[in-house]
Amino acid sequence: MNAPAPGAVDRRTGVAVRCINVVQIYTTAGGHDVVALRGVNLDIRPGDAVALLGPSGSGKSTLLSLFGGVLRPSAGKILVDGQDISRIRESELGRLRSGKVASLLQGAGRNLLSYATPEENVEFARKALDVASRRRLPSPHELLDRLGMAELAGRPMSSMSGGERQRVAFAAAVSSGAGLLLADEPTSQLSHDDRDVMIELIHRVNREFGTTVVLVTHDPEIAAQMPRSITIRNGRIGSEGRHGFDFGVVDEDGAVHIPDELADRFPAGTLVQFEQTEGGVLLRPVDESGS
Ligand code: ADP
Ligand code: MG
Repeated sequence: MNAPAPGAVDRRTGVAVRCINVVQIYTTAGGHDVVALRGVNLDIRPGDAVALLGPSGSGKSTLLSLFGGVLRPSAGKILVDGQDISRIRESELGRLRSGKVASLLQGAGRNLLSYATPEENVEFARKALDVASRRRLPSPHELLDRLGMAELAGRPMSSMSGGERQRVAFAAAVSSGAGLLLADEPTSQLSHDDRDVMIELIHRVNREFGTTVVLVTHDPEIAAQMPRSITIRNGRIGSEGRHGFDFGVVDEDGAVHIPDELADRFPAGTLVQFEQTEGGVLLRPVDESGS
């Protein structure tokens, strides 16, 4: 039987992520507690492409850091590829971070080796992998080519624009063959055109490699470009979007989280009447003021 040619294929098994009642509490230097996540339940399937959308301070980065094993939850469980990472040893967490999970942060392009080429940066990003894993991956040149960056190969980083650097940072992040890509506001410092290229790259690894993607953004326009978006509101799952359309979600306690655009009509504490109609159920806010 012929062994597969080294680096010939890069078809990954997308990694699943599951949150069960996740609570995250930070203790500040002043000694008081900040509850960043208050009971998050979430199921991300292998190969999903998901945006976490929400205003600043809603808990998006906290959730992403938990997925990557950078933080441990105060309570609840986080399953990455079926493994509960909230309780595993530090050494196993290290393996998770170098093998299964890739992270791309805002402004990551600034952290590359500026005297090196993109190929050398990809090579460097793979340093933590063992030889056998490295042999299964496409060469840095092949990877850049598959990501549509052939024209960047060979050029020194120091000659590149911010958008080009961020693209190389993306290639370096996904170069280890991880099945889960976590990207925290990866487009926030880019021009409109560079932003579109970055989103297309994210779609590309999801489509062609099968990588599960979780993208954090505060920009509804970017979230709408993903097949699934999850709105985080005040440390909880707010609503769910599919290809830019927003839906309410029913949680474990039967509470319905209404989409953002209806929040004004249903302020917290509103009595809601449910009226069965032929097509479904009508939600009607009850006016108790008597007027
Ligand atoms: P987002 O990414 O949506 O802007 P974060 O996850 O960064 O939100 O933050 C959620 C909440 O947790 C905010 O109230 C923030 O101030 C707080 N927070 C985040 N990191 C820390 C920390 N290291 N120490 C204390 N509070 C924090
Ligand atoms: Mg953030």
